[in-house]
Amino acid sequence: MQRLGHGIGTKFGSGWISGVLSVAFAAIGYGGVLCLLFPWLLTTPDARPLYPLPLVRLLIHAFLVAGFGLGVLSVLLRRRRALGLTGIALALAAALVGGAQAPVGAMRESPGYLGVDWFLLNLLLFALVFVPMERLFPRRAEQPIFRAGWPTDLGYFAVSHVLVQLTVLLTMAPAALLFAWAVRPGLQAAVAAQPLIVQFAEIVVGADLAEYAVHRLFHAVPWLWRFHRIHHSARAMDWLAGSRLHLVDIVLTRGLSFVPLYVLGFAAPALYAYLVFVSFHAVFIHANFGVDLSGLERAFVTPRFHHWHHSAQPEAVDKNFAVHLPVIDRIFGTLYLPERGWPTAYGIAHSAVPEPYPAQLVFPFTRLPVTR
Ligand SMILES: [Zn+2]
Ligand SMILES: [Zn+2]
Repeated sequence: MQRLGHGIGTKFGSGWISGVLSVAFAAIGYGGVLCLLFPWLLTTPDARPLYPLPLVRLLIHAFLVAGFGLGVLSVLLRRRRALGLTGIALALAAALVGGAQAPVGAMRESPGYLGVDWFLLNLLLFALVFVPMERLFPRRAEQPIFRAGWPTDLGYFAVSHVLVQLTVLLTMAPAALLFAWAVRPGLQAAVAAQPLIVQFAEIVVGADLAEYAVHRLFHAVPWLWRFHRIHHSARAMDWLAGSRLHLVDIVLTRGLSFVPLYVLGFAAPALYAYLVFVSFHAVFIHANFGVDLSGLERAFVTPRFHHWHHSAQPEAVDKNFAVHLPVIDRIFGTLYLPERGWPTAYGIAHSAVPEPYPAQLVFPFTRLPVTR
């Protein structure tokens, strides 16, 4: 049979892009069906009452149909058919257990849950915002969406969202356990009584001072660097690269940054607003987004500022630790922001960090000597 494309490699027309998208879309649809069938285990309790079920079913249907269709296209285009066939098989497996019309499973008592819904929604939201942004205004136009290392970074994105119950608990519990002695009810009442916008600004400053200190420690203390160098092993920068964070890195950074917010007792709406802001900003600063933000970058951390933090060039090593406010690096003498220009290479020179996610998870605990 005459092939439509040349059927090899990963270029447009080879069937690779349609194959990867087929697997991704079918897996998202399949994940949605599993959430319908086992909501007590796979969905976030707080989100359950908020879901508009007809819209959820419509979305699942769209993903399964797209996954199946792209799988067929990939099989037609590509000599190696594993990707397309995997997408087709996932879509069919989802259809076999009810597809978009699968019945909503009964609720059961469960001490824990996995945030599969949280992962799927965030993946959709971030991909919808950042993929077009990076395609339209790229810093590196030649860097494809599916660049080297993307499956590892998607693994990080998936695990940190699916384990949301665990990471939230490990973020908030240590502050309450270890710093209850520092709480002053009068101070907390005064803090929480301020206008929300003032509290939000104070949270950004307080959290970023803590993030700066913790981040600097992660670079300076060898056994902490073992965990943080995973984040710096990324050789391509885009919205997904920021997810490459070891679980120990996530829990320690968030847990310690939460201490001042806990002690000061900010109102919940201000904390939630910060959570939304930090999850967007932390992704944004890694993005492959080349628009000139020089008017902004003295006040707020921009992709160019944080890309320099990831630079492999010696002059930028151990610089730009702040997540939100470059002024913190200026004060503490760790700012590196030339007038213009971007790093030419990212990552760690002579890095021994292995690539797949499971290997990176155990890597900090191995006996290998710590090198930069
Ligand atoms: Zn770092
Ligand atoms: Zn980073």
